[in-house]
Amino acid sequence: MTVKKQASQRPATASTYRAKKNYRPKQDFATRLLDWFDVHGRKDLPWQQDITPYRVWLSEIMLQQTQVTTVIPYFQRFTAELPTVEDLAAAPVDRVLHLWTGLGYYARARNLHRAAAIVANELGGHFPDSVEGLAQLPGIGLSTAGAIVSIAFGKRAPILDGNVKRVLARHRAIAGWPGSSAVQDNLWAISEEITPHKRTADYTQAIMDLGATLCTRSRPRCDDCPVHADCQALADNNIAAYPGRKPRKTLPVKTTLLLVFSDAAGRVLLEQRPPTGIWGGLWSFPEASEHAEISHVATRLGLRIGNIHNAPVRRHTFSHYHLDYTPVYIHARCTGRIGAESNLWADPSTPGDIGLPAPVAAMLEALTTDSATGKDGTLSLFSSLPPGP
Ligand code: SF4
Repeated sequence: MTVKKQASQRPATASTYRAKKNYRPKQDFATRLLDWFDVHGRKDLPWQQDITPYRVWLSEIMLQQTQVTTVIPYFQRFTAELPTVEDLAAAPVDRVLHLWTGLGYYARARNLHRAAAIVANELGGHFPDSVEGLAQLPGIGLSTAGAIVSIAFGKRAPILDGNVKRVLARHRAIAGWPGSSAVQDNLWAISEEITPHKRTADYTQAIMDLGATLCTRSRPRCDDCPVHADCQALADNNIAAYPGRKPRKTLPVKTTLLLVFSDAAGRVLLEQRPPTGIWGGLWSFPEASEHAEISHVATRLGLRIGNIHNAPVRRHTFSHYHLDYTPVYIHARCTGRIGAESNLWADPSTPGDIGLPAPVAAMLEALTTDSATGKDGTLSLFSSLPPGP
């Protein structure tokens, strides 16, 4: 199974590659993939040990839009602290978001918590063993449901995650962006057609492995690929065309001020965001749309404010917009009204078991470094400024 390494844009000839247009190998796609998986597949990932529906479900949710190497420590910490679906259902959502801090796409964590409550409280602790049943739970789409059904329950179910879309789009030379419903329907039909009736758990793992380790986004290792012989993109020497790109659109830019109120002890004020929307349920700094609003925010929070220091603008990009945020550091003194459940004064070095958006976690970490914090615990950002109130 050796072919010369692909050189993009070099014309393919019959002698250059063994992949041929419309070639039909003797063994079907799944058989070749499973033979490869038996030798090269990943079998020692944490969620491949002690397989339970809970562990498979958790890993599949964590792996959405996230690399395996990133997920491993999160999965290990999560399952050590919340080993069962009942434990997860009983945990405060703040603890769940705290365990998720850094993984991003926090709606996944909130849906995880909601789904756990349904499974634990309404389904007797048992996950549904069908795609249809699982897809009723918050945060579980058809592909994730298929992966759980095949891996945890050993039942045949096709999947179509990002890796599989890439493999199938290339192998069958399916043009167009896989996010469009026509292309997606086409890829689902292919996935359904090639999913075997035996060894479905291994097959599911194998096709995900193929996409993650060989048929990668850039520089696919076609020479090692078990299905290269009939790969149509390879035969056309046009792998870069698949999968088709999402039509470009310019992301809008939103701006905000993140108000870092700090007291004399060096603590900073955090507010819990509403449960839905961007960073829903996470703890962040109060915001203002412009500097003229800062005094209103301070009044709302029962704070007297002193010196104000603007840090340079930073950018955080969401899937649908850029957020340009300016950290504004403000000396503050509480006038006695603070203490609502949605507010807390946090030590930047030990904010506690709460979920934090990545930019906020990074700002807190920066505040704990020697350069940011004075010996007396006050923020050195203010050291050159007159004292606060
Ligand atoms: S690794 Fe190469 S040969 Fe295999 S499916 Fe992907 S593009 Fe085709």
